[in-house]
Amino acid sequence: MKRTKLRAIVLACIIIFLSGCAKSEQKVETQIFAMDTLMTLSVTGSNAQEACEAVQALIVELDGLWSVTNESSDLWRLNHARGEWVSISRQTLSLWEEASALSSRTEGALNPAIYPVVRAWGFTTGEYRVPQERELAALLEHIDISYVQADTQNTALRIPADMQLDFGAVAKGRAGGLAAELLREMGITSACLNLGGNVQTVGSRPDGTPWRVGLRDPLGEEGDYLAILSVEDQAVVTSGGYQRYFDLDGERYWHILDPESGYPARSGLLSVTVVGPSGTVCDGLSTALFVMGEEQAVEFWRGRADLIRNEEDFDLILVREDGSVVITEGLESRFVLTTGYEDTRVEVVTW
Ligand code: AMP
Ligand code: MG
Repeated sequence: MKRTKLRAIVLACIIIFLSGCAKSEQKVETQIFAMDTLMTLSVTGSNAQEACEAVQALIVELDGLWSVTNESSDLWRLNHARGEWVSISRQTLSLWEEASALSSRTEGALNPAIYPVVRAWGFTTGEYRVPQERELAALLEHIDISYVQADTQNTALRIPADMQLDFGAVAKGRAGGLAAELLREMGITSACLNLGGNVQTVGSRPDGTPWRVGLRDPLGEEGDYLAILSVEDQAVVTSGGYQRYFDLDGERYWHILDPESGYPARSGLLSVTVVGPSGTVCDGLSTALFVMGEEQAVEFWRGRADLIRNEEDFDLILVREDGSVVITEGLESRFVLTTGYEDTRVEVVTW
């Protein structure tokens, strides 16, 4: 009897010791190439390795659904269905619903049907060219998203045969948001996911202080940060002309297009950063507000209470062509210029 008791105590001690070991914090950093970009995942927690692998699997799965070039993706099948209904995943339907809502809220500045125009400029293949005005005008006849039909009961979409969708402006934001959700479900309280410039944070840094996200100088080189932003549990998403472009005859042409003209959006801004809890909202709005320009972007931010649900509230950082910066008041205490950029003019916009 005594021996059994002793054995039980020893066993209990071993279990406690092992679970103590398992609970020790682990920091895991991984890089993956997905969604046409290099992604860095940094996760801390007792199950960091497992959580990191789960996030990788999720991103690969989403890439498989939303790639415009992979022939088995939901988007490819939809874009090649010649006007027929296409059965898609819940994730794709849900992203379509959010992208189309953001498109209406931004009065079409975000247009998930702009793909044929993006392709005409060569931004999908890297075979860059400047399309003729007539060619652009003809393509712009087919970007009206009101022709897209959704069947929520059967999880299906139908687009006219002459239309094509592209989630390039929202996919990384949505992937970051879903990845953060997954990490929180797995008990992770500290992670920073950098999905090619779309940053999504979970909780704070392992030492409890806020994450510090560098804001790229759009006039500088890769690795030049003009400011540092402190965030917790938020997404920080930037759209900028410097991210993908080509130069021809002294002109720079970038990948963010104005759906009204079909030309790269030249609104006087070099980059737009949106900070908020929803990765999809931040991503969709960073593209849309880049198209809209400073005045309309600030107006949109001031009127956001009517347009965006509370949990999707956001703040902005706009970098103008002259290098000066506009930030909205929610960021004032969390935004610090870096060494070498102390003389940058920063205007704070209030509500
Ligand atoms: P982002 O980097 O999030 O600003 O998204 C830019 C990508 O979205 C481009 O590479 C295009 O594939 C696509 N795109 C370009 N202009 C627009 C637009 N006005 N609305 C929606 N998607 C766009
Ligand atoms: Mg975007």
